[in-house]
Amino acid sequence: MAELIDLLRDDDIPDTGVRFSNLIGQERVRDVLTRAANTGRIAHAYLFLGEDGSGKEAAALDFARILLCKSDAERQGVNRTNLPCESCDSCAQSRKLTHSGLRLLFPQPKPQPPKESQDGIDAVEQYSTAQRKLMDAVLAAKVDDYYADLAVSGGNEILIEHIRSLRQEFRLTSYSGGWRIVLISQADKLRVQAANAFLKLLEEPPPNVVFILTSSRESRLLPTILSRCQVLRFSRIDRETLRSELMTRVKVNEAKAEAATRLANGSWKRAVEWARGDPSKETAKVVELMRDLLRGDPGKIDQLVDFWGAAARSGSFAGLLERMSLWMRDVQRYDADPGSVSEFDWDEHLIKFASFTEGRHFEDALAAIDEARLDIERHVQTSLIAHNLFYQLRRVLFSQAANQA
Ligand SMILES: [Zn+2]
Repeated sequence: MAELIDLLRDDDIPDTGVRFSNLIGQERVRDVLTRAANTGRIAHAYLFLGEDGSGKEAAALDFARILLCKSDAERQGVNRTNLPCESCDSCAQSRKLTHSGLRLLFPQPKPQPPKESQDGIDAVEQYSTAQRKLMDAVLAAKVDDYYADLAVSGGNEILIEHIRSLRQEFRLTSYSGGWRIVLISQADKLRVQAANAFLKLLEEPPPNVVFILTSSRESRLLPTILSRCQVLRFSRIDRETLRSELMTRVKVNEAKAEAATRLANGSWKRAVEWARGDPSKETAKVVELMRDLLRGDPGKIDQLVDFWGAAARSGSFAGLLERMSLWMRDVQRYDADPGSVSEFDWDEHLIKFASFTEGRHFEDALAAIDEARLDIERHVQTSLIAHNLFYQLRRVLFSQAANQA
């Protein structure tokens, strides 16, 4: 009966503009969240599922900003228009992701306490200056682009310390009227302990807290978490939307937008990457390097170390590593489910590579690449980074071939 009344009442609610200005496409998701914002009937916990680059975090942050906007708090439920207003204090803070009512949790490295730290300090406060810098950079990139990855090198799981400090915070701070939104990015990286701690929070949700979990790996989520969330599925973005948004937002011409769209497989993030670079040229460099590593001629590998490790080339080496990381993720995805990358038939190398390296340690290879990228930021000597990485990749990916040789 109550539901029926709700249904009838929905007709009276003006379908006025809340704005998901960073989210690309995903009309159905917009509809569900717009309705929730307009009616004030917000779930305790949402789970956004969909592929990388489909806009889960962009939607979460846009939604959070709508809820946090204070412009018409007094008119709530009557005529909420044009949220977020972009002119109240709340909007200014949420735009910079510094709003106290907005918390971002994502896989982070375990704190390496600075030497001067003392016992008794909250573990979360124990990050070293270098680690903090890395995480600040990740957040700054997110402020600029809601599609940027919340990925820090060495961050393999969502730490239980962060869940605990969240629980403590909710216990200590009293509810002051507004929404509090917690985005948990890559929720599949909640390991058992942290997941259980989080479940306790979900079972007794603090007042006016909205959890938004995101994941591209549904199969790795605990069923107990899944069953307690309202699930929203993000589809691949259709080509027409990608193409026109690329032309508007990235300001590329129609031909370039078309080519990038074809390669993007429904992902905005990939579409932008392809639109900004010269995909085939960049990928060719990665493929060539992999081929040389597979052949494993030490003379040739040393030559590559000399080439890529030259200090003057450190910028393009960083670019190579980024491309390599993307490419490796594609291979990994193809390996896990060839059907999922049907539009990648343009890259026969990827398919060959995936079949050759089947069952090998992609995660290890990716970790090695991430570590090398971190080393570049730490200003480790480039030739040393290149040497370590190339030999490590050879060992991780091609050890069987190496043994047979
Ligand atoms: Zn506002």
